[in-house]
Amino acid sequence: MGMDSSKRLDEQDTDSDCVAAGLALLDELPQLPAAIHQLFEALSDDDIDRHQLAAILDQCPSLAAKLVGLANSAYFSRASTINGVSDAIFVIGFRTVRSLATATALQEPFSNNHCPAFQPGRFWLHAALTAHVAKELAKKASPVLALSPDEAYLAGLLHGIGLLAMAHLFPQELDRVLTGSGGQTGALSVHMQQQFGASHHSVGAALLRRWHLPELFSCTTEHYGNPDYQGDCWMACRLITVAHDWADHVIHRDPQHAFDQHGLNLLGIRPEDSETVAESCLEQLESFTGLAELISGEAPEFCDPETVADAAVELKDRLVDTIESLSSLSALTEINIQDRSEEAVLRGALRVLMANQDMQRCSIFLVDGDELLNAAGLSWSEQNEGDREKAPAAVSTHRFRVGEGLIGLAAKTGEIQHCRDCSVDPRFKQKQTETDAGLGSIISVPICFQDTTLGVLNISHRQANIFTEWDERFLYVFCNMLGQLIKSNRLLRKMEHEIEQRTLELQVALERAESLSILDGLTGVHNRRYFISNFSTLIEQCARYRHKLALLMIDIDDFKQINDTYGHLEGDRILKAIASVLKHCARGADIIARFGGEEFIVALQDTDCEGASHVAGRIQDEIRLLSCGQGDNRRGVTASIGMSCYARPGNMPIKTPEQWIQEADEALYRAKHSGKNRIAVSVADAL
Ligand code: GH3
Ligand code: MG
Ligand code: MG
Repeated sequence: MGMDSSKRLDEQDTDSDCVAAGLALLDELPQLPAAIHQLFEALSDDDIDRHQLAAILDQCPSLAAKLVGLANSAYFSRASTINGVSDAIFVIGFRTVRSLATATALQEPFSNNHCPAFQPGRFWLHAALTAHVAKELAKKASPVLALSPDEAYLAGLLHGIGLLAMAHLFPQELDRVLTGSGGQTGALSVHMQQQFGASHHSVGAALLRRWHLPELFSCTTEHYGNPDYQGDCWMACRLITVAHDWADHVIHRDPQHAFDQHGLNLLGIRPEDSETVAESCLEQLESFTGLAELISGEAPEFCDPETVADAAVELKDRLVDTIESLSSLSALTEINIQDRSEEAVLRGALRVLMANQDMQRCSIFLVDGDELLNAAGLSWSEQNEGDREKAPAAVSTHRFRVGEGLIGLAAKTGEIQHCRDCSVDPRFKQKQTETDAGLGSIISVPICFQDTTLGVLNISHRQANIFTEWDERFLYVFCNMLGQLIKSNRLLRKMEHEIEQRTLELQVALERAESLSILDGLTGVHNRRYFISNFSTLIEQCARYRHKLALLMIDIDDFKQINDTYGHLEGDRILKAIASVLKHCARGADIIARFGGEEFIVALQDTDCEGASHVAGRIQDEIRLLSCGQGDNRRGVTASIGMSCYARPGNMPIKTPEQWIQEADEALYRAKHSGKNRIAVSVADAL
């Protein structure tokens, strides 16, 4: 097409006539690929994700192919080979790929250069430098600029596009102008104006408008470098002017290459900030040069057409694969194991896998002793029909011994078993079931955690040879993560179980501690503290319901002697025996407590003085049956009892617990002093 326009231009009389014809010829320039418009939008969108970028590049295979070429060139060479756009995105970086794609797309319509003085490499170096500096300065500029750094970058990248178009449309004429201007773009503008009656500014702006790119970019392209321009985008134009001038200085090895201070002031950028930008940019100068050569196609390593074409075929699939795989992995990490059973977690993992990968059925078998049992399963139809959450768990009763079939082999060897064609692969063991019938391809992947095989994941498809090496690699990573998920879930369950157990144990211990704190350790009857705190309640209840109440204070006679004669252990035995006697003689609702060393107290509910005397007598009788020692050394045991009671229920003023106890104690004292082994009643009650 460049040749075409040249021929027609030869017929023109003057160069300025050329421009009019040339602007008309702009219409004949190829349209930008549709993808590039979306790429432009994507450039200013920080939230764009892999899916979107993939979809955009998918529309334009030639652009994708070029990107692979770029990524594979020596400029970006890394330790490992970059095999496709997918790798490029993750290895080179998302933003760089976007910029590369944009610049590559812009260069594409002008790839045949017939203007000897025009150097595309240098042109793109200038564009890349201007773009980079404009972007960095935009970050430092006053907010009044109202231009995002990404927009500034694009405005910089595009500002000289008119020159590229002119080199394409009027190669010979531009060659003359360029030779005359000595390559200085500032002077070039004037020369062009003189020669053509229009400059590359207006040609560039016309081109961008024709390409329907946002008006901002046409505006900056048209007016940068013009200090008199006062229109809407004057601030953006100042920014591009400052960046353009600086890039020009750098390219022409001008030792000053300082920023235009006046321009910086207008943009509200501090001189020290601009110096930082300049320094960082100069440090990267070599990489900008390399980048420019790659974009323009001047780099010798770039564009082995065969490699690029081959890579292009593969890269589309790979890109889709990568995106799907990453989606699966990222979804897997989002599975919440809290409050979920193992089966629910496994099913969640299968759902994630099925949603993002091309397969018909997948299942998980878990190791159980020397067998593998089906723990979860999902088929494509289940995933896509009906309510997913409520879909029945497609668990079969299949089981495989470790080492049996593909599943068993995967578990035994810890290695992926990829069966490309089930009809001929001897490893495939048909279980004669519906799900197995007509299977073409299966991959069985061990699910491991550290050195332990937890289970096996299977994915299958009716078609033979459907899965690729990539699927194997992806499933390997997926199963590693799944292994961790299962392990974490089991740990969580185990911890929950342990916590439950501990809570239970703690509860029992607490109850025990509580009961201990109210019971006497030796005899098992209540202790003094319990008696004191419960006796007052009992008194109040009896007063309210006009129940009778009696209190017995029991003290073993000559207990010191028993201890001295038979030892403390024998003494303890007697204490326990007395407690048993008391429990035997009292009723369930009565309170029995060890009040002191060998003193017991018993509150008898709904019992009057007569009843209490009766109980006390029985107690004494039973105690008398006890004895210490053997043979000649043998002696009996007796106790004295002091008693306090309501002699005339209902008519008595309410006695306090202390009064009750004091009265019983006094009675006990009297029983002792009148010869022991007796019952005495409180004087007040006896009246
Ligand atoms: P009295 O007939 O006047 O009640 O004489 P006593 O010897 O029973 O009374 P005293 O209060 O002088 O002695 C009580 C003894 O009970 C003193 C103490 O060593 C003993 N004792 C207190 N607690 C225990 C115990 O838990 N086990 C044993 N074996 N003896 C105890
Ligand atoms: Mg005593
Ligand atoms: Mg005693």
